[in-house]
Amino acid sequence: MQDELNSIEENAVLDKTISLKINNKIFLAFERKTPLSISEAVQYTVDEDYQEKRLYLDFMTHELGKEVLIKRYEFFLQNMEDLAGKTLSIYLDINLYRVLFLTITEGELNQEVDYSTIIYRFDRFQIPSEKNDPVIEVEKGATVFERGFVISGRVTPGNNRFISSCDFCGKFFMFQMFHVGFSDVDYYYCDRCTNYLAVSIYDQKYNRLLDKLSAKRISPFSQPYEFSDYDIQLNLENYQLIEDHFVSCTCGGHFRYLANCLCPYCKSPYVDFFNDIFRKADQYYVVDMVVPKCESFYGEKYWNVYKEDD
Ligand SMILES: [Zn+2]
Ligand SMILES: [Zn+2]
Repeated sequence: MQDELNSIEENAVLDKTISLKINNKIFLAFERKTPLSISEAVQYTVDEDYQEKRLYLDFMTHELGKEVLIKRYEFFLQNMEDLAGKTLSIYLDINLYRVLFLTITEGELNQEVDYSTIIYRFDRFQIPSEKNDPVIEVEKGATVFERGFVISGRVTPGNNRFISSCDFCGKFFMFQMFHVGFSDVDYYYCDRCTNYLAVSIYDQKYNRLLDKLSAKRISPFSQPYEFSDYDIQLNLENYQLIEDHFVSCTCGGHFRYLANCLCPYCKSPYVDFFNDIFRKADQYYVVDMVVPKCESFYGEKYWNVYKEDD
């Protein structure tokens, strides 16, 4: 294995020409045989008369003299402001395994970036190769960890925005993420839209409902082998009991512990828990949709998350 890794590193070059087109104009190109890894930071200013609120960033390659689109990204600002005349800094990284990372900030290159600067991050993708190198695939319904947006043990700063696309309909949306582990918050996605209900585990009523659980609670890092089938069943029943106490979502859907994080457009799962309570418990980041905007519920802010007669 070590030998394999070494050989990848020694020979790591692009085996295709890669170019980036922004709104159909070539902006950046890397020749075939460019050594990996690549780190590039470039500035781009949008035309003053640009009318659209989105930019299209297309990665192209060339096969048999023909230009082939290998990945399209859409970029838009978190408030869907006009892009005309805006200056953007575009950061491109391609690692030894040809995985491409794209990051954009507003403003000129080398300006100071602090916590008020929004950092737009995109899905990574692997540039196809002529060789049969191992392919790093992201499965449908992957979690934000599996998508490489967050790394275990490292906190994702609050100024990060993630632009990703649906695995089913392909439309782009933007979200931010909240680490719910540090704030001792549980979250329940709506089963019909991108809303979610978050509730502090210190909320008295919530606490009482959790206390009805007569088995050990399944929490992040719980291992399935530590729980009997019966204990898993008790955990599931406890969450169902709690869900029955919550108000309905404004869309008419229900907040459920095992509801998936949905695509705002086609409502297919974006993060799919596959009804696996361990998979859900491990996901201590909640996806909060920014564009298109959804009104979210926070248990800590709105105490009327429970039904009125409760
Ligand atoms: Zn809803
Ligand atoms: Zn979709």
